[in-house]
Parts: sequence; C-alpha cells; structure tokens
Amino acid sequence: MASFNLLLLPGDGIGPEVMAEVKKVADVLGKAGLGTFETETDLVGGAAYDAHGKAVADSTMQLALAADAVLFGAVGGPKWAKVPYEHRPEAGLLRLRKDLALFANLRPAVCYPALAEASSLKREVIEGLDIMIVRELTGGVYFGEPKEVVTLENGQKRAVDTQVYTTHEIERIARVAFDLAKVRRKKVTSTEKHNVMRSGVLWKEVVTRIGAEEYPDIELEHHLADACGMQLVRWPKQYDVIVCDNLFGDMLSDVAAMLTGSLGMLPSASLGAPDAATGKRKSLYEPVHGSAPDIAGQGLANPIAMIGSFGMALRYSLGLGQAADLVDAAIADVLASGMRTRDIAAKGANAVGTTEMGDAIVAALRKRL
Ligand code: NAD
Repeated sequence: MASFNLLLLPGDGIGPEVMAEVKKVADVLGKAGLGTFETETDLVGGAAYDAHGKAVADSTMQLALAADAVLFGAVGGPKWAKVPYEHRPEAGLLRLRKDLALFANLRPAVCYPALAEASSLKREVIEGLDIMIVRELTGGVYFGEPKEVVTLENGQKRAVDTQVYTTHEIERIARVAFDLAKVRRKKVTSTEKHNVMRSGVLWKEVVTRIGAEEYPDIELEHHLADACGMQLVRWPKQYDVIVCDNLFGDMLSDVAAMLTGSLGMLPSASLGAPDAATGKRKSLYEPVHGSAPDIAGQGLANPIAMIGSFGMALRYSLGLGQAADLVDAAIADVLASGMRTRDIAAKGANAVGTTEMGDAIVAALRKRL
C-alpha cells in the first residue's frame, strides 16, 4: 500500500477545529487500505509567532519541502494585530507559497444539488455547476517592478504597479489548465485583456500556441476578463477550466466562489512545477476561508472546505482520484440528508457543529468504502 507523508499546519482560529476533521477522514481511508497517511502537525501563523517569534519556523519549512502535500488551515486574528509587519501571521502563508514556488492556484466552484437554493442565482443557472479556476499566483501586477509611489515636482504623487509576464510563466500555467481539462470536460477558457494590454496579447498568443502544439484535443476559447466575469454570473455552466493571470484570477475566482454559497464550502490547491526527477509537484491545500475569529473555539465552523481541500490533495498530489471521488460523494450524501452547519443552514433551521458534520462525513464515507 502506498505511503504518503502529509504535513498538517492547522494555524489559528478555526484552523485546528476543521483540521481535526481531516485527520478522521484520513484515518478512515487508511483503515480501508487506500493508503498509509503519515501525518506530522506543526505550527504556522499566530500560533508559530507565539512559540518562535516567527510566522513559520525554518524547521517547519523543511518539513513542508519534504512533504507529499501540505494541508493548511487558516492564520490570523485580532490577537496578532500589533505584531511587526514581517512577522504577521499571513507572512507564514506567503513564505510557504514562495519557498515551495507555488505558481498555480486551483479553485473549484462546485454546486452541490442540496445547496442550490443557497446561491444568490437561480437554481437552473447553478445546479450541477462544476468549474475550475486556474489562477497564476506568483507573477503579474502584484509582483512586477517598478512598484512604487513617487512624489512629483508639483507635489502630486504617482503610484505605479507593473503587469509583467514572460513566455515561460504563461506556458507553465497554461499547461496546468490544459492538463486539468484533459481529465475533465476537455475545454479551456483563457482570459486576459488583449484589447488594451500588451501582456494580454502575449498571454493569448502563448496559450494559443501551447493548446495547438501540445493539447490539440482540448477545445480552447478566449474571453476578455471582464466579459468572463459577466458570463460567470449569467451562465457559468458554459465553462470547464478557466485560466487567468494573478489579478484577473483573484477577482474571477471570488466571483465563481460566491456562485456556490458559503466560504465554509470552498477548497483550494496551490501547485508548483513538477520535479524533474520524480514528476511530483510541491503543493499546499487550504480552504478559501480565513481563521474566522468570530466563531473560533465554539465548535461551529463548517469543516467541508478543509475536508474538500484534503480531497483535492488526494486527487492532485497523491494520485488517489478514486478516494477523492469517495470523499466528495460522502460530502454530497451528508448535504443531501439535510445536515447543515450554521453557515449553510436556512434561517431558523437546526444546525450541527464542526465535529458532528465531520463525523457524519466519516460515516457516509465508511458506507461507500
Ligand atoms: P474569514 O474567512 O475568517 O471569515 C469571514 C466570515 O465567514 C466570518 O463571519 C466567519 O465566521 C465565516 N466563516 C469563515 N469560514 C467559515 C467556516 N469554515 N464555517 C463557518 N463560517 C465560516 O475572513 P475574515 O473575517 O475576513 O478574516 C479573519 C482572519 O482570517 C483575519 O485575520 C484574516 O487576515 C485571516 N484570513 C486568513 C486567510 C488564510 O489563512 N488563508 C484567508 C482569509 C483571511
């Protein structure tokens, strides 16, 4: 049986509460013979700052670099509002992303049939939705130089951010999108603003070439990023995989996320380049939500985003697609049974806590194994 080494970084606030439910799911899969999951747990964020005076210790980084996948809960909270900027809890996540060179961010937007009513869009628009947003995470306007505010001779200020992409950066994110489409519905939509941005012209050219040369069987279409935002709320089911730069991806993935309801439901993955020798990618899996200090410690957090993130790790890092399907199906079973945590319950309806939801998913998983 294959053995996997997972680093669990629960972090702050509700992070440890939702991570505890992932451990239960991994135990059940292990006992069913789907793999041996060796887990190591360490500190990150405010918890790491309290222990070591740093948002992530060097020893933790070594573990992260050696792991088959890193599972990350959430960091931050009012307790650390005044710590020095370079040691703020988020610095732990940024260092992980940087040192693992995680350039591709994957955010699925899946609408579970039982939750179609929770969307702000009509049921027919949203029911059965299953799309994937692939966002470039380490380049573009958030990092390009110059990035500065200068004072002009007349006393006015001028602020500059620079959108920069190289051929290599576009090629590698395009390949991630095409590879995903291969095992999905075989369609990629590439978004940019080639009508007004030079970087958009290059983006479109490079994605078109990679599609034609390396993925002739995958349908490729191009949407201007603003039009894509509009189409996402008009008829999102037209999409399969959407690939975007860092800035447009930031916005479009949030739009897509909200199609499906609560923050407590949304998993994500961040992937690095494949290792030349093993083909394995460095990876980090985390829920989209933060540490939710308003409900931390109360056992109220929805663990589905965190469990779904583990599902993505099974699929994209551990080669256990079938186990991932079972986890997704167990989540769908529990939602179909009517069980809800507070964030996804109808007003006035009964809601369960974090452990009850985790236990129900584990029970549904056992039935399917
Ligand atoms: P948040 O995602 O923590 O919470 C927003 C709202 O959604 C809150 O009302 C919260 O109770 C609710 N919520 C979030 N996750 C939930 C879950 N699993 N179940 C039920 N309800 C859930 O965002 P915020 O309030 O803007 O930020 C709180 C802290 O988290 C801040 O310190 C922020 O910097 C940090 N943060 C961290 C990350 C991360 O670690 N990746 C991401 C976003 C925010």
